[in-house]
Amino acid sequence: INTAAAAYPRKILDYMEGFLISKTLFTACELGVFDLLASSQRPLSLEDVAQGIGASLDGTERLLAACTGLDLLKTHTLDRQVLYSNTEQSRVYLTESSPVSLTQSIRYSSNTIYLCWHYLSDAVREGKNQYEKAFGVKSEDLFEALYRSEEEMVKFMQLMNSIWNICGRDVVTAFDLSTFTTIYDLGGCSGALAKQCVLAYPKCNVTIFDLPKVVKTSREHFVSGDNQRISFHEGDFFKHALPEADLYILARILHDWTDERSIELLTKVHRACRPGGGVLVVEALLCEDGSGPLTAQLYSLNMLVQTEGKERTGAEYAALLNASGFHSIQVRAGN
Ligand code: SAM
Repeated sequence: INTAAAAYPRKILDYMEGFLISKTLFTACELGVFDLLASSQRPLSLEDVAQGIGASLDGTERLLAACTGLDLLKTHTLDRQVLYSNTEQSRVYLTESSPVSLTQSIRYSSNTIYLCWHYLSDAVREGKNQYEKAFGVKSEDLFEALYRSEEEMVKFMQLMNSIWNICGRDVVTAFDLSTFTTIYDLGGCSGALAKQCVLAYPKCNVTIFDLPKVVKTSREHFVSGDNQRISFHEGDFFKHALPEADLYILARILHDWTDERSIELLTKVHRACRPGGGVLVVEALLCEDGSGPLTAQLYSLNMLVQTEGKERTGAEYAALLNASGFHSIQVRAGN
């Protein structure tokens, strides 16, 4: 091999070490660096931060330096002392109390997804998720494994919740849904998308349909009883009859399941749907030749390691919908 002819492997080195960046972000969040800086009225010194997060001076210094290098923190010097503060993005997205906080998602990525990805080679070899190896739970029933404890279920719900606070409005307004008044959000989880839906469409009522223990937690912790236009329905969408509605939302549901199970579910939706009604499928879309976007390609690997499903192209979703009786399918791609 003529190594002199090859360009310096910048990309490969960056990919090899990409996890160092993820772990730096996870650790800074877990130790509360961004919350501490946000709660302080002034920029803090290394000593203040180390004391505030209860960590070693040396470790904190290296963590803060890396976060500064990643543009998650900024520094300025006062009387020869370096002081640290949050960048705008860190203040908005990395602090616990922000309405668009990503800290719960980061925690789930760190404590669950990262551990599953340790077994990615096994997942690729075996073509199945790795809950058993990662967490010692059999995964015959996917959501039994995902919700292996009450605590895990709540963490998963928090993960699901956070992204719709950021881009849920764009999702529910990608199509004009104003003609649909009775809406069922199947697998509606914490209700974050239901909330965006009732905000965007003043005439609709949304029912969150989910497994009984999810509905109970959603009621208790996520959806305020004051919201008269959001209600709940406990059930299993594979086992129980689906109520009649004008519109069914299936957000990040089909990517959990095989084509066969997706058609089984969509066929039930089609049978229950009122004439003139529809289904809104919300998923990360692969482009038609599967050549991107990279995020969707990586999510599809994540679906392999964690679920029974995969990410799909618009045409693949259209084929599932057609096979279940739906016609007039439209696709919109966002960011
Ligand atoms: N739609 C939500 C969102 O986008 O934030 C949650 C998506 S989450 C990946 C899948 C949801 O489907 C969970 O809330 C889960 O509890 C629910 N679910 C899984 N199996 C179900 C079943 N058999 N019947 C009803 N809901 C189910």
